[in-house]
Amino acid sequence: VIRIGQPEHSVVTTCAYCGVGCSFKAEMRGEELVRMVPWKDGQANRGHSCVKGRFAYGYSTHRDRILNPMIREKISDPWREVSWEEALAHTASEFRRIQYQYGRESIGGITSSRCTNEETYLVQKLIRAGFRNNNVDTCARVCHSPTGYGLGQTYGTSAGTQNFDSVEDVDVAVIIGANPTDGHPVFASRLKKRLRQGAKLIVIDPRRIDMVKSAHIAADYHLQLRPGTNVAVVTALGHVIVSEGLYDEAFVRSRCDWDEFQDWAEFVSDERHSPEATEALTGVPAETLRGAARLYARGGNGAIYYGLGVTEHSQGSTTVIGIANLAMATGNIGRPGVGVNPLRGQNNVQGSCDMGSFPHELPGYRHVSDDATRDIFEKLWGVEISDEPGLRIPNMLDAAVDGSFKGIYIQGEDILQSDPDTKHVSAGLAAMECVVVQDLFLNETANYAHVFLPGSTFLEKDGTFTNAERRINRVRRVMSPKNGYADWEVTQNLAKAMGLDWNYSHPSQIMDEIAATTPTFSKVSYAYLEEIGSVQWPCNEKVPLGSPIMHVDGFVRGKGKFIRTEYVATDEKTGPRFPLLLTTGRILSQYNVGAQTRRTENVVWHEEDRLEIHPHDAENRGLRDGDWVRLASRAGETTLRATITDRVSPGVVYTTFHHPDTQANVITTDFSDWATNCPEYKVTAVQVSPSNGP
Ligand code: SF4
Repeated sequence: VIRIGQPEHSVVTTCAYCGVGCSFKAEMRGEELVRMVPWKDGQANRGHSCVKGRFAYGYSTHRDRILNPMIREKISDPWREVSWEEALAHTASEFRRIQYQYGRESIGGITSSRCTNEETYLVQKLIRAGFRNNNVDTCARVCHSPTGYGLGQTYGTSAGTQNFDSVEDVDVAVIIGANPTDGHPVFASRLKKRLRQGAKLIVIDPRRIDMVKSAHIAADYHLQLRPGTNVAVVTALGHVIVSEGLYDEAFVRSRCDWDEFQDWAEFVSDERHSPEATEALTGVPAETLRGAARLYARGGNGAIYYGLGVTEHSQGSTTVIGIANLAMATGNIGRPGVGVNPLRGQNNVQGSCDMGSFPHELPGYRHVSDDATRDIFEKLWGVEISDEPGLRIPNMLDAAVDGSFKGIYIQGEDILQSDPDTKHVSAGLAAMECVVVQDLFLNETANYAHVFLPGSTFLEKDGTFTNAERRINRVRRVMSPKNGYADWEVTQNLAKAMGLDWNYSHPSQIMDEIAATTPTFSKVSYAYLEEIGSVQWPCNEKVPLGSPIMHVDGFVRGKGKFIRTEYVATDEKTGPRFPLLLTTGRILSQYNVGAQTRRTENVVWHEEDRLEIHPHDAENRGLRDGDWVRLASRAGETTLRATITDRVSPGVVYTTFHHPDTQANVITTDFSDWATNCPEYKVTAVQVSPSNGP
């Protein structure tokens, strides 16, 4: 006898929210999901979960889901429901027309870090083999692209160095520009457990995040720096480490280029990088800088965890390089409990980068100019691949405004809400002749779409996600796609409509192709994952059980590379009109732009985006807690309520970006990282003034 609500069977799958990659048992009754139970054997979460993974799945059956394809001639026209055949034939015909009329480079696409590795691989394949250009980019552009660049330059591979289990051997944890309690809750719990056992903690953040002081935990040092000065702080830590002889000479001599180290040491030793000089620039007391540097260098196993507070700056790549320098200088690489650990935001940011979603890289981070790599894919795909990098997302939008970029295929990404400088994004989208959005809901970007292709949830498909520790986790289909097709099937059908002869009958075959073409994945297959559970890449004949820790005996690039990190102030300046600095973040119970969490009716979410403002700044403006305020920058303005708190310093305000009503990205500017174009979300000069509300 089956009682109402009692599950009949369960399927183990992977959470589709953050980069921790927790495993769950989806307990099912027929096609109905009864509950998500954290899986005790999950290698990333070991039976733990957070509120999002456990409860926030109601969006999968929400009435807002679009289940039928739709097209319209002009964005002012109403949508018209059509068959899948008509939608895909129309899309293919439009893309071909545009290329015939404006040239091969006039279209491109964006992959999704929410989708599986297999789906991401197929989108970049469609663009390279079907569109015949390299105009593919990913939402990682706006979050962790500087991680790819910085760690690639210094260590030779664009990924974190450790596994999450490594936290159990940490003696000193350094959190820079991340808020694990809200952004990566299950990892935060593991770190807090280690801290309660006596590990030390250094937090580098403009805001007093929960980890600075919460139940039974207090950071030993909180470097509450002025937003935009990460590079100066990281370089000053290097100054103390070198000038006080705290570096690990044996490690550096054996594992790194000694001449480059000496050059870096000479650079950081300069008086302008001293703690005293840095205090004036960053607001961090010199003694705090000294104490933190000494603790990290001499406190035992030192592990650095960082997030978007590092990458989303005009010098995001420079800070990643600076962090890599510190870990090498102190010998904190290549063993449990140490390393450089980017905390990835979305569930498959790591995977979408691994799968060749960048316009300059084929799968496995191999540059398109590399003849041998192109040869592998050209032979398999039967096409010639350009050796020139394609356009990044901001370049696509610029080219659209200029009139040379006319069509885009966007899978699982809402660039109008999530990318900076909303006005520019909408101008770019409005200038295109064919915008194709594939998503669960009519998102903000779909306001500019000519074709809408319904997307599928993680519950409706097979595949893999790769989490922040490079762990390849299986995603297993627990119910039929409500729209008729999983996302990978839609991409395959679009490819067929464009004349490509693709015949994958299951995502496992896509993974087989990835393994055959990508040395770091060569032993990965669905059968192998069934056998061993999950695995961290590289996973090949040399390391069949994968690589929990990287750079153990040597760096992937050979010798670790020290690079100077010159601080350059952002062009975004405060002044009389915009006297405060805005920085942004997220809260535990919402996820990014909230498309899923706001549509989860099995949990009641009360939070709204609020502006945190220091009591001093609030008083100067006559504000009381909960008042409506107008938040304005050079780029735009919005209205939200104020929370008065000393979590932020005087002169700094903070908000989240989960609600479309707030549209925090109307405020953010188009400044971006010098190396990767990752937007500078974390520093915007703003004015805050009383308001009567929206
Ligand atoms: Fe999902 Fe991340 Fe929460 Fe784990 S920590 S349940 S992966 S949102």
